[in-house]
Amino acid sequence: MAPVLQFLLAFILLLGHIGIAQGRADSAHATDKCPEELKRQLKAGEECQPHHLHLGANLELIAKIYHVTTDQIREWNGLQPDEALADRSVVWVIWSKRPGGHYERHSVRRTKRSTRSIEQGRRDTQSWYKSKGSHTNGKLLGGRQIPTGRGYVVRNPKESWGTPKTIALIQRAIHCAHAKSADLPPVVVGDISLQNGGKFGGHRSHQNGLDVDIGYVAKDRSLDGNFFRGTPETMDTERSLDVLQCFLDTGQVTHMFIDYDVQKLLYQAAKKRKMSKKDRRELFQFPRGKDAWARIRHSKGHKNHFHVRFRKPDEELALQSR
Ligand SMILES: [Zn+2]
Repeated sequence: MAPVLQFLLAFILLLGHIGIAQGRADSAHATDKCPEELKRQLKAGEECQPHHLHLGANLELIAKIYHVTTDQIREWNGLQPDEALADRSVVWVIWSKRPGGHYERHSVRRTKRSTRSIEQGRRDTQSWYKSKGSHTNGKLLGGRQIPTGRGYVVRNPKESWGTPKTIALIQRAIHCAHAKSADLPPVVVGDISLQNGGKFGGHRSHQNGLDVDIGYVAKDRSLDGNFFRGTPETMDTERSLDVLQCFLDTGQVTHMFIDYDVQKLLYQAAKKRKMSKKDRRELFQFPRGKDAWARIRHSKGHKNHFHVRFRKPDEELALQSR
């Protein structure tokens, strides 16, 4: 080969390497191949799994999803102790695959932690707290931060304060969703409120500890732990409907916000599982248009999560005394 050609080839290869190292080759097949070194570590039944990084991804969250440690992820991906994820588009984790074809998290521990935290939540409900004002102009006093727990991941702990009752209801609904489907990936808990409530950038409401954003369930495990846009390709509508139904089953949801296009997908799933016409009409605006009355309402910005609004505590007291 002529030296000029050799030089050119080397230059092209170098360019490719820089691209991959800086995470620009997001959809390139090169990044979808398990690194050789990691492949050699695989034991029987284990698989190499790519986790694609989205905005806001962090090591702790990924570690939680796969039930591995952040140190393991660093080791598997050759990340230096203080190296951030910012320049990467994908990290690799080792998962074990069960005979049924479902993935199982590393070292699944069956503890009573989630049950205990629900109990704790119920006890906390008795204690003093105040959700003041309205959802769009309110405050939170004596709120509780959602603790870490089994079955869910919290996107922004600093933005995840609610009334103790809100926290308990979220945990109860998530517990219910996992009981419905054994392989459900961790439910993604988005913003609730700031510690003392009040104005919350990026949200119109979420001011008094009674609103929570919940991620849809993905078809593809590499989307787990993230908010992603709900489409027929990305969304596991059956299991997303399960999660949604579990929130409704708390009996404390006044309404939810879901983009009209996503409502359509959930409506079709509800129809498929033979939810009555009356119930579908009560639940979804689809197919009657964005202004129709229903418990689930269209609202801009809810293509990648659903927004749950819980009843105000004093409304609840009013109902009880009736
Ligand atoms: Zn919201």
